[in-house]
Amino acid sequence: MEKPDVIDAASGTGEVAFRHFIDGRAVSSARTFEKRRPFDGSLVGLVAEAGREEVDAAVTAARRALTGPWAGISVEDRSDLMRAVADGITRRFDDFVEAEMADTGQPRSMMGHAFVPRGAANFKAFADVVKSVATEAFQTATPDGAGAINYSIRKPKGVIGVISPWNAPFLLMTWKVAPALACGNTVVVKPSEETPGTATLLGEVMNEVGIPAGVYNVIHGFGPDSAGAFLTEHPGVDAITFTGETRTGTAIMQAAARGLRDVSFEMGGKNSALVFADADLDKTIEGLTRSVFLNCGQVCLGTERVLVERPVFEEVVARLKAAAEALRPGHPEDKATNFGPLISQEHRDKVLSYYAKAAADGATVVTGGGVPDLPGDLARGSFVQPTIWTGLADDSAAVTEEIFGPCCHIRPFDSEDEAIRLANATEYGLATSIWTRDLSRAHRVAAAVDVGITWINSWFLRDLRTPFGGTKQSGIGREGGVHSLEFYTELRNICVKL
Ligand code: NAD
Repeated sequence: MEKPDVIDAASGTGEVAFRHFIDGRAVSSARTFEKRRPFDGSLVGLVAEAGREEVDAAVTAARRALTGPWAGISVEDRSDLMRAVADGITRRFDDFVEAEMADTGQPRSMMGHAFVPRGAANFKAFADVVKSVATEAFQTATPDGAGAINYSIRKPKGVIGVISPWNAPFLLMTWKVAPALACGNTVVVKPSEETPGTATLLGEVMNEVGIPAGVYNVIHGFGPDSAGAFLTEHPGVDAITFTGETRTGTAIMQAAARGLRDVSFEMGGKNSALVFADADLDKTIEGLTRSVFLNCGQVCLGTERVLVERPVFEEVVARLKAAAEALRPGHPEDKATNFGPLISQEHRDKVLSYYAKAAADGATVVTGGGVPDLPGDLARGSFVQPTIWTGLADDSAAVTEEIFGPCCHIRPFDSEDEAIRLANATEYGLATSIWTRDLSRAHRVAAAVDVGITWINSWFLRDLRTPFGGTKQSGIGREGGVHSLEFYTELRNICVKL
């Protein structure tokens, strides 16, 4: 029997298949793998796994589309099409929320209020950016006195390979697809094997709003020796944009080196929050509760190291403990649920291994440290307790390695210099938040902490026009606003002798 194209992510029958989206059509593979719901372990459906053949078909379709009708569409019309995609997402809002909920297990409230709307917002933002960006021009002196004019134009880079992770799948995938298409490229997307839903659904929206076949392609599968590696190794891919773990980025960079393909990398973090004694503690605790526990701690920008000036250390520990213990794990449809599961049992094993290491390293477990006792089917979900430690040495694994779970270590400091030194004592450099009422100090510390993104008295407050990316092991390049154009277009110079 033909499997349905339209995903009924809520059906739970196991009949649903996520197929590739190649050249405007759903495409099957002989091999499939299972996608299970993280909150109760039930089967969402089977997912097609692309081999080299399907990856090649997707890249070939994307290359062909570069010279088809897509190439003749003006910037204005492309911008309108990006807005149409955003409207198409909004029209099928509930389908996207269902798909994202089935894939990630996070509460409906979070998907509906933040992560799915942001997918549509990404398309709107880059619809505006491509229409308003200027290019440079120089008047150049020449020996004959007549001069020359140098001006630059932007051209699409070509076929972009988009490799995305599972933690905010729709938001992070569209953050790359939107600028890539707005700039006139074509894409082959490899979503995480954990989250096949929304990337597949977006293919239907692309067809509904008239994006030409081959412009947006999706292939499903794993990383090494599977769809991810086949895509990044494919010589028909002109550039690769990747969000995920630093270790994976290293492997992708090696693949990209063949043929000197450009890369844009958004990778891991071990982010700090710096809380000074003069901070508004109500706002600080509210911010820390989000930055440590949102999405069950599976946010690249999330805080895993909280540094607190000693006079307010005990108060911050006590209040964050109370906030953690007030979180309600549960079914994503339950209105009382504000704390979802980890993405998979495998990831839960990893997070629990850090809980064990922290205990073995002598941490004081302020709260959590294990698995919550949940009733019925939820007992099969991949939930863990929100967890706070104090008292760990600066070189212990839970303080230095990215855990990507709902946990943090809280450590006191005695001076601004010490806070900066501790914040910078990491191989990562993605984000930080600084909590203080002293504006001069806020600016001083912001400039001294070596990260790509700093929030002062807030966290995850995003303006999509700003540069986004990390220093050190947290990434290469910046995306956002005009900065995305640096990666998704090729800037060419034209010199005219007058
Ligand atoms: P991951 O690196 O395991 O996987 C990401 C993607 O890469 C998946 O689609 C996977 O299938 C693919 N992949 C894996 N190995 C590959 C290979 N050898 N070749 C090609 N593709 C391969 O990451 P994850 O576990 O899905 O996501 C969590 C990580 O992502 C965390 O480290 C987190 O900090 C990071 N992240 C960073 C940002 C950011 O903006 N900096 C945002 C979100 C997540």
